[in-house]
Amino acid sequence: MNWIRGAVPSIYGDTMDNVNPATGAVICKIAKSKRADVNAAVQSAHDAFPAWAETPLAARCTILRNAAALLESRLDEFARMESEDSGKPINTASTIDIPRAVANFRFFADFAEQEEPATHPMEGGVNTTHRKPVGVVGLITPWNLPLYLLSWKLAPALVMGNTVVAKPSELTPRTATAIAALLEEAGLPPGVLNVVQGLGPDVGAPLTEHPDVQAISFTGGTATGKLVAAAAAPGFKKLSLELGGKNPAIVFADADLDVAVPGVARAAFTNQGQVCLCSSRILVEESIYHAFQERLIEELASWQCGDPALADTKLGSLISLDHRKKVHGYVTRSKGTIHTGGEVPEGPGAFYPVTLIDNVEQSDAIVQEEVFGPVATMQHFDTEAEATGLANGVPYGLAATVWTSDAEKAMRVSKALDTGMVWINDWLKRDLRVPFGGMKQSGVGREGGKHSLDFYSEVRNIYEAT
Ligand code: NDP
Repeated sequence: MNWIRGAVPSIYGDTMDNVNPATGAVICKIAKSKRADVNAAVQSAHDAFPAWAETPLAARCTILRNAAALLESRLDEFARMESEDSGKPINTASTIDIPRAVANFRFFADFAEQEEPATHPMEGGVNTTHRKPVGVVGLITPWNLPLYLLSWKLAPALVMGNTVVAKPSELTPRTATAIAALLEEAGLPPGVLNVVQGLGPDVGAPLTEHPDVQAISFTGGTATGKLVAAAAAPGFKKLSLELGGKNPAIVFADADLDVAVPGVARAAFTNQGQVCLCSSRILVEESIYHAFQERLIEELASWQCGDPALADTKLGSLISLDHRKKVHGYVTRSKGTIHTGGEVPEGPGAFYPVTLIDNVEQSDAIVQEEVFGPVATMQHFDTEAEATGLANGVPYGLAATVWTSDAEKAMRVSKALDTGMVWINDWLKRDLRVPFGGMKQSGVGREGGKHSLDFYSEVRNIYEAT
């Protein structure tokens, strides 16, 4: 169902199947919406905007905190929906996806309330900087971390006084509609958040083009990001693009392998490798290359595909059979050496094993393009310059990890990398205040803390003579 002042079907009456990729079973039907549904949602958001924009910040923050508490109390229900829709292990959904969504609502309520208004006195007067909501914003999100990424946009959008039309991936639809219902239970006025289910070209494209939508925040693939950028540009909409990645893990010979081996495994294969931040290229200093590879393969023995509904499953299903075909296509076309995985398992579900490939060339598609699955390549290097050259030698620039016990080298290498984020001796440690986003083909703009508040508001200056 869509959510436009309550759960509603598509105006056209069309539906599509929501399939559990781990079993192939149809979970439910969802609305297959089109332009008229988008228009109705934008109208609803447009009508709700003046009152929500006037609602005091403290009241908006209270609603977000109420929502966080409600979501926390229903963590199991939301985690189950997310796991069934996406095929991810229930453990991932209940320890990463849903807790992070709770944290997003709490964080932005606190962060926005604590922000000091900026004043800049000068000779003859004083400047006061203040924020005004942008208006109706469109939030377009992917299937890999559905509620996690939607709440990362939704919380700052709502706290800044905007109204929203959200378009989740049709592959993982349920938590978006469920969070709209939950937010209204938490006190959000009807019309402030609207959700339209359906396909990208049918829903995402008309939402991006709509003249009453003032900003678009998009997370998804780079190819789709180009379409979104082209559609948003003629309307001079504010645009945030969080796109794909091809992230390096750089392992130096002086790294503590007890930390680096499980760390790199986690960075490469969490969520079946379907996190934009996953380290899909493992670059290892020549002198420890074979030792590291041996230990990594041993470590990966514990990363077995299993039933996502079971608590101890580490590796669930990929998002769909189509996606598995794409992932396996990269592996079969590669001329590299497969050390583990690389074969499609028998049986139902879109499962795919953790796959490690080396003897690859920097120019190979599997090194240059985003596979977005449990597939990592390994390459070796001799010098720092060679490591950063390989790391930077792809069109993407989202994130990197550096593994070394030499703090100066770690900082030097991190600064030389063309990525928006670097983790040293760790991965996916997130402080929600810090900038999140990519360079090169990995995106435009930053999310997180002040960066999100800046995107979801018009920052204005008022000068008053004294
Ligand atoms: P897609 O780019 O295929 O889709 C993202 C969203 O855009 C979906 O809701 C999709 O709808 C919608 N969409 C599709 N076509 C259009 C269009 N013409 N106009 C507007 N919206 C459209 O990405 P995936 O869902 O496949 O997600 C995986 C990608 O997301 C990976 O490349 C990954 O790296 C990236 N990602 C980036 C992150 C970051 O922060 N940088 C974080 C997480 C993921 P539909 O599903 O119906 O096609």
